[in-house]
Amino acid sequence: MPDPYINAVAQLDSVKKYIGVSKKVFEQLMIPEHIIRMNISVKMDNGRKKTFIAFRSQHNSARGPYKGGIRFHPQVDEAEMKALSMLMTWKCAVVDIPFGGGKGGIVVDPKSLSEKELERLSRAYMKAFAPYFGAWKDVPAPDVNTNAQIMSWMLDEYQKWLMANGKWQMENPSSPYAVLTGKPVELGGSQGREEATGFGGAIVLEQIAKKLKLKRQYTTVAIQGFGNVGYWFAYFADQAGFTVVAASDSKGAIFVPKGMNPELTLAKKKEKGTIAGNYCVGSVCDVKLGKTLADKDLLELKVDILVPAALEGSIHKGNAGKVQARIVIEMANAPVTPEAHVILQKKGVLIVPDILSNAGGVTTSYFEWSQNLTGSSWKKEVVLRKLREVMETAFDAVWSVSKEKNIDLRSAAYVLAVRRVIDAMRLRGTQ
Ligand code: NAD
Repeated sequence: MPDPYINAVAQLDSVKKYIGVSKKVFEQLMIPEHIIRMNISVKMDNGRKKTFIAFRSQHNSARGPYKGGIRFHPQVDEAEMKALSMLMTWKCAVVDIPFGGGKGGIVVDPKSLSEKELERLSRAYMKAFAPYFGAWKDVPAPDVNTNAQIMSWMLDEYQKWLMANGKWQMENPSSPYAVLTGKPVELGGSQGREEATGFGGAIVLEQIAKKLKLKRQYTTVAIQGFGNVGYWFAYFADQAGFTVVAASDSKGAIFVPKGMNPELTLAKKKEKGTIAGNYCVGSVCDVKLGKTLADKDLLELKVDILVPAALEGSIHKGNAGKVQARIVIEMANAPVTPEAHVILQKKGVLIVPDILSNAGGVTTSYFEWSQNLTGSSWKKEVVLRKLREVMETAFDAVWSVSKEKNIDLRSAAYVLAVRRVIDAMRLRGTQ
């Protein structure tokens, strides 16, 4: 596996020429402002203590508090944390929300832990890193293998830490909730967060269709991954009139030429435990309406739009040459490797980069933070309306830079984001 941090720096390096950034500023942007690494000790169910390695990387705070998830995964390491925190800086800047970039993690396979051990580990992480977090400092969120329950334990632990350290009064009374996002609605989470990332991606799809004058009904879409992001993308794309002809999960893929009903397909998937074999069109599910494919075949289907919404690196140099779609909308993080990007570019495939197309999630995290700080609670329609506005504005800005400089959308998104961060640094006098 290539070093993710080297990839992240190479990406930054590739847009340097369009921005005119000095060597000094470039170096500032390359290196996270802080990387905190700690050993955290947790009591296991057998009574023994076990030590876990944990990180928080805080990349850049010129535009606001650091923002980014906490992942629990055996492959977490410093290079990954640095790379992902840098990506968060660009993602927040592309959609113009007032955050910098952060990322945290613990080296652990959470499947090997009991529920109680998971809770103790989550609390131990927050206890150890609490001095570095805060509504105006660094605002974490769920990421790979972490969820709203884990955020709830962490929120509780953070409040205990504030009280134990006499810091409660220093904070705005509502801000303990604003210390992290992705919470359940009962604990200050936002309406609309669940569907936000997929919804944001579907807005990007609508904008692409508008620019390229595609007729929605005749525009076919294949989606790799039918989890949170993939399902909601399918749902909103279908609602907007596009024809979703294929989708997959880790157990298989389906091809439904007439266009699937995502809601019914999800219901069937829940019933049977897999998407394979469920072909639902309109209000009918029937074996005659489609066929089951291997996941790799989904990536090679002759469709207009391919949406990788499952895994990092799923389109790589080994399969990029076989992609027949005209447009790839990256909904997973980094689903197209740098080598595959070059191959797709040469074939004339339009790639909408992850830092734009999947930014609906972090944007709704920003809405959650705003609601917590003001003690308000917005209806789902309000959240989705505001999200639409943010995504449309960001898409237009990226598209304009791409046309103005005659560069691909990924480079354009980076140019826009890096420029915004540099402007903030210049205004602060920190460059
Ligand atoms: P999820 O766990 O809900 O869903 C992942 C889906 O991918 C599942 O349906 C799983 O079966 C499927 N999958 C796994 N391996 C597969 C394979 N080999 N082939 C086909 N399908 C496979 O996760 P999610 O929240 O939907 O996240 C998906 C991606 O989007 C991840 O890369 C994540 O980092 C990224 N992302 C998520 C959010 C968010 O708000 N959830 C925001 C930004 C980026």
